[in-house]
Order: sequence, then C-alpha cells, then structure tokens
Amino acid sequence: CGIVGYVGPKRAQDVVIDGLRRLEYRGYDSAGIAVVHEGELALAKRAGKLANLDKVLADTPLPPAHTGIGHTRWATHGRPNDVNAHPHTGGARRVALVHNGIIENFVELRSRVEADDHVFLSETDTEIVAHLVELQVQSGVDLPTAMQRVCQQLDGAFTLVAVDAEDPDRVVAARRNSPLVVGLGEGENFLGSDVAAFIEHTREALELGQDQIVTITRDEVTVSDFWGRPVEAQRFHVDWDL
Ligand code: GLU
Repeated sequence: CGIVGYVGPKRAQDVVIDGLRRLEYRGYDSAGIAVVHEGELALAKRAGKLANLDKVLADTPLPPAHTGIGHTRWATHGRPNDVNAHPHTGGARRVALVHNGIIENFVELRSRVEADDHVFLSETDTEIVAHLVELQVQSGVDLPTAMQRVCQQLDGAFTLVAVDAEDPDRVVAARRNSPLVVGLGEGENFLGSDVAAFIEHTREALELGQDQIVTITRDEVTVSDFWGRPVEAQRFHVDWDL
C-alpha cells in the first residue's frame, strides 16, 4: 500500500517511519521497516496501526543505520498479522523487500523453489520475490541485476523495493502497473509510492515509467528497464502542498 526507501546521512529509522506516517491516509492493516547495518538486516513489523510498530521501536530501536525501507500493507494474500507484514526476507535473511500490488504467478514461482527445500514463513504473494532476489545476489550478481532478472519472471502489478545486507549503500526498486517516485536530495535520495513519502525532505522528484528499475545511493540515481538498458526518467518539481 505505502512504500518508503532511504539512503543518506540521516537515521534511516526516523526517515522511514516519518514517511510511512505521511502515507497513513491511504489506509493499511500492518506496517514494517528494515534497515541495513554493519552487514546485517534489522527488521521490525507489526499488524495494526503504526502506533503498534512505534511501541516496538521505542522498546527496541533499530541500529543507527543509514539505509532503510518501509511499508504499510493492505493485505491481498494472507491475513493481516505480524508474520505477513512486510518487509519479507529470503531464507538467509540477506535481502529484505517490500511490495505493493499483486504477484499473479506467485504459486508457480513458489513451487519452483520449494523443490529446493525453501521454507516460507508467510502466506503472502510477496515472500517468494524476496527469496528469488536473494538467490540471485547469492549467485554473485549485484542487487540491480538481481532485481532485473526477477522482474522478468513476474506477472501482475508491483512496486518492489529491496535492500541487500552485503551491499549497504544502495536501495533498488522496480515498478509495473503500480506507482513509484524518487525523491532527489543533496547527499541523500528517497523512494516512495507517492511524493508524500519524502516531501518534507525534498520537492525534486523523478517519475518512474512502466517496467523500470531504479537504484539509489546517497549521490546517484540510475534508471533502467527490466533488461538493464538505461532509461531517461522524467524529472519534476512538486509545487503543490499535501
Ligand atoms: N499483495 C501483498 C500482500 O498481500 C501486498 C499488498 C499491498 O499492496 O500492501 O502482502
């Protein structure tokens, strides 16, 4: 439902949670966050309002990371509970991923890897995508390439945003039939399902087109299609107030 991604000098937990709060108006049933810190993922997720997640984070704050992703979920596959909340991870907890939309061929994709002893924790159509991206990075390709290869196999509507614990300085996102915008900062960059996710930080933005992948670092934004061909994204200024 709502998506936030961040890379920059600020504390990722604060930027991501503030962004999710700005997206609350869309409605949701669960919320979660993942950050990358010293080669590891740290996650927190809870069914119910953001206040429930706030409580968890107040008791056990995430490490002071500078790269993070967050999600508010509107369940389509699997009940709204803590386990089904996003982010989801691969089996090795190396990749964390959030998703808006529906992966129509998730049953078929799941059955392909279930044969390899993969254990799925959730009932979502999303978790398989986290597993597939993780398998790709484990095979040695970088996160943008992993995302491209996986997106080529997906049917349906999706905005996906992922982080790799072993590649802490970037966030990679993809979209098909579901919105994704990039917020352009100075020494920091943002991803959002809409501009509300980052408007308090920047009003300079990029609109992603159909079947595109974007990689953000602190200083760079790179856009390609699902086959790695470079794409020129549309830049715009957010001159309205939310
Ligand atoms: N289909 C996914 C799920 O049920 C994502 C739903 C959403 O867009 O929030 O977890």
